[in-house]
Amino acid sequence: MIPQTSPGASYRAHQTEIDGAVARVMQSGVYILGKEVSAFETEFSTYLGSRYGIGVGSGTDALHIALRACGIGTGDRVATTPLTASATAAAIEMAGAIPMFVDVDPRTGLLDPERLERAIKGAGSQRLKAIVPVHLYGYPADMEAITALANRYGLMVIEDCAQSHGASIDLRKVGTWGHMAAFSFYPTKNLGGMGDGGAVITNDRSLAEKALLLREYGWRERYVSERAGVNSRLDEMQAAILRAKLPHLDHENRRRREVAELYARALPGATLDTIRPTAKVQHVYHQYVVMCDRRDELLSFLKKEGIGALIHYPVPLHRQPAYYSRRPPQEDALANSESMCGRVLSLPMFPELTNEQVDMVIHVVNQWETAVRVPV
Ligand SMILES: *Cc1c(COP(=O)(O)O)cnc(C)c1O
Repeated sequence: MIPQTSPGASYRAHQTEIDGAVARVMQSGVYILGKEVSAFETEFSTYLGSRYGIGVGSGTDALHIALRACGIGTGDRVATTPLTASATAAAIEMAGAIPMFVDVDPRTGLLDPERLERAIKGAGSQRLKAIVPVHLYGYPADMEAITALANRYGLMVIEDCAQSHGASIDLRKVGTWGHMAAFSFYPTKNLGGMGDGGAVITNDRSLAEKALLLREYGWRERYVSERAGVNSRLDEMQAAILRAKLPHLDHENRRRREVAELYARALPGATLDTIRPTAKVQHVYHQYVVMCDRRDELLSFLKKEGIGALIHYPVPLHRQPAYYSRRPPQEDALANSESMCGRVLSLPMFPELTNEQVDMVIHVVNQWETAVRVPV
């Protein structure tokens, strides 16, 4: 059995350092907002090339707090993609705002800047305030185009970096392009803790201060709430574990790229489409996604052969009961996202995958392809 992802393998790869980090926190007697969190905030924002990092309780909270720090509130609209985790829309709704879904580029699954501009122009009297681009699967969204649009139309940009730790565009890391960015440290992410965790990133001092207040009851001074904040703190143990793992992130991302290269070279290109990054981006392969018209058949074949595979995502957000009322009026406005949801499949992808396991996955996919191929 080859799993699709393996947080346990990540633990075993760094066991000594993680066990040491956990013991250090236990013995310190400080478990909330101590020196591990502040050290991690500095180390992670420095790694990205940004000035401020604020550790919070999850990636969803990071998005929510960033949106609120940017002044997004009740009734405001936020443009985003429907091809993403529920978390992206959940955070927008938590801030009291309304997601405005814009279709993706069918070649990448990322927000399409041209459609985005049309949606911005079409927003009319609706109070469109911000854009939340998602660097889906570890592939950076077109931040040059998106930030140019934001400047032209006076919009805030909050990057959803939950799947893209370490990815970059022209060597500038994602998370440093927008006004703010949100990261998740959910265990399966490229940088994952052993529980929930997240971070808000920004270069702007006043936005950083707002996020800092919001994460703990709106306190500047203890017990005095300046704003109606929340309780969303990264805990000391997660911070210590993340500090142990951060120095390994770059070489683990390199291994993910190696695995992607092996897949790309050996999988049947005629039956399976893949997402090909351009030369100016560094993709960090949170997921390795293939696209296939007979996706469900391939998925059951892989299951039967003991290969873990997942679908990211089976249903676009505007087709889900909670967000159905947020769908655009035009029936086919999000056709690319819908069609991708029916075709995408995520193969096993994590840095501890061995070459033998990768070969096995390739072998099984090719076996399936030979069996279903239409004879010419
Ligand atoms: C995982 C994820 C999140 C949310 O992270 P949590 O830490 O689980 O709250 C947000 N956006 C995307 C695209 C994600 O993949």
